[in-house]
Amino acid sequence: RIVLGIESSCDETGVGLVRLHGDGTVELLADDVASSVEQHARFGGVVPEVASRAHLEAMTPTAERALATAGLSLSDVDAIAVTAGPGLAGALLVGVAAAKAYAAALNVPLFGVNHLAGHIAVDTLQHGPLPSPCLALLVSGGHTQLLRVDDVATTITEIGSTVDDAAGEAYDKVARVLELPYPGGPPIDTAARRGNPAAIAFPRGMTGPRDAAFDFSFSGLKTAVARWVEAAERRGETIPVDDVAASFQEAVADVLTAKAVRAATEAGIGTLVISGGVAANSRLSTLAAERCVEAGIELRVPRPRLCTDNGAMIAALGAHVLAAGVKPSALDLSADPSLPVSTISI
Ligand code: ATP
Ligand code: MG
Ligand code: FE
Repeated sequence: RIVLGIESSCDETGVGLVRLHGDGTVELLADDVASSVEQHARFGGVVPEVASRAHLEAMTPTAERALATAGLSLSDVDAIAVTAGPGLAGALLVGVAAAKAYAAALNVPLFGVNHLAGHIAVDTLQHGPLPSPCLALLVSGGHTQLLRVDDVATTITEIGSTVDDAAGEAYDKVARVLELPYPGGPPIDTAARRGNPAAIAFPRGMTGPRDAAFDFSFSGLKTAVARWVEAAERRGETIPVDDVAASFQEAVADVLTAKAVRAATEAGIGTLVISGGVAANSRLSTLAAERCVEAGIELRVPRPRLCTDNGAMIAALGAHVLAAGVKPSALDLSADPSLPVSTISI
């Protein structure tokens, strides 16, 4: 069966197509993304009204390109999946409205699904079915969570999360301090590869003995970087951007991987999946690979293109939800901007 997935929770309009095989495996057929990121760059963050309007304009052309790539027509589609939340209310609404229109016109089931669970489900397109249970480290622009995944279609439980900024948010804010472009993840990653990660000892948040074992904090780190840069500027020094970027990136990767590996070890879980936009980070995946080998844990990281927002992740999750026999959403489905990760479909 063919599932078409629609993503519009933030600034990417994504339409993906997957094939659900009889054995439950899910195959990627097409993944088309139109981004309005350039329209937001000069504001240093996503402008909700601009994003909604861009989704409206991009939705149909993106769907048409995805269908053309897969060599399919709308009449081949057996189910529609759409991001119902979490995300920007107006942005989500455009995707949900489009999904309802497709489902009604084609007379096929509609599944409103969770964007965060989609970030995890996308890994099955590259690495096959997820073992049960597995541990997911979800690191994105708005979220940083450790999750126990018993079944990506039905059962996800939060083990820990950030108490302040998300990891991606910290990247975006530090990029601003370093006068690097928005979004900050990719330029910091590039600068960091030229720098010395041991140049500056930035703080590792929430790693003290009295801190909750699996929660994260990145706001102290972000402030420490800003203070360090201000102090250097006051002394009239040029900022060693590459070293600051490398030292910041090392602190983020260190905390994320240390906690993820410890959580997996303590829970006796043998597989760690890292997903979300920040999973595209080169140092995070390298350090995670080293530490997982030491701890005897299997590591799965989707390729960067699948880590950032796309429609294939929603199509993949939709296919798993369909395969699990979950009841489809009603046609009066509405978006939920603060949908919790434990609610995988609504
Ligand atoms: P959420 O999924 O929480 O709703 P989002 O959808 O906006 O948020 P994603 O698209 O999953 O987030 O991820 C975007 C984030 O990933 C941005 O903060 C961006 O800076 C970060 N990012 C992208 N590439 C990299 C990279 N190579 N290194 C670090 N961070 C990165
Ligand atoms: Mg984005
Ligand atoms: Fe996302």
